[in-house]
Amino acid sequence: MPDHKEAVSRLAQMIDASRTIVPFTGAGISTESGIPDFRSPGGLWTQNRPISFQDFVADASLRREAWRRRFAMADAFGSARPNIGHEVIASWIKEGRAPAVITQNIDNLHQDAGVAADKVVEIHGNTTYATCLSCGRRHELAWIRPIFEATGDAPACEACGGILKTATISFGQQMPLEAMQQAKALASECDLFIVLGSSLVVYPAADLPQLARRNGARVVILNREPTGCDRVAHLIVRGEIGDILESIIHR
Ligand code: NAD
Repeated sequence: MPDHKEAVSRLAQMIDASRTIVPFTGAGISTESGIPDFRSPGGLWTQNRPISFQDFVADASLRREAWRRRFAMADAFGSARPNIGHEVIASWIKEGRAPAVITQNIDNLHQDAGVAADKVVEIHGNTTYATCLSCGRRHELAWIRPIFEATGDAPACEACGGILKTATISFGQQMPLEAMQQAKALASECDLFIVLGSSLVVYPAADLPQLARRNGARVVILNREPTGCDRVAHLIVRGEIGDILESIIHR
């Protein structure tokens, strides 16, 4: 593995030489915005056991717990703003260097950094609004929260009475077909695939770097610690995403 300075310089050269960059982000890109990741010490994973999709649907008390957690998160991280990592990716998209960003994140910070919603491919959904599990209708959290706080339960869908859930993909829930198709097409058609802040242990998301490599892309993993797919990367850059991207754009 090259030393840190050499790795950052190689990343900068690969960015300059590339025709089409596809950034693929995980929870690690948002830690510098104050949102903890899943698997680092003290991360969300260590505090709350995830509620599976099947349990959410079957058990009203677990639905209440899921909503309680969601609004506690809103109080803790609701004011999070995009950081330099989100901004650099937004600039690549604006300049036409990257067609879109693929993200495992559910926090809407790529859109908040100015990326059009149709250029943010969310393979694990979005937690900033809810959808009905029966008819798919969108509902805003600002409408759900006061009802939850007054009654102890989230309301049913206004249109069909179905169960409302944040628009995220829980463990056990089917992956979003369209977003997965878009993600696979992006990974297959780029010449530089850059993973930023993901432990690459959640599948099928973690298949994407391998797909990119099989289709001829150079693969870079930028993460502060080893990931589940380091063997797939042409270049590994260890460190903080913000520092590294900032040093590359201010060369
Ligand atoms: P993860 O927590 O498994 O991995 C994050 C990785 O990023 C870790 O390896 C960590 O070392 C690294 N990291 C953290 N901060 C970093 C920084 N500043 N610079 C460089 N590396 C950094 O996250 P994952 O792989 O995205 O998988 C977790 C799942 O949890 C995803 O599906 C995601 O939807 C969800 N999640 C999302 C958010 C969010 O939307 N912000 C937050 C937590 C979890």
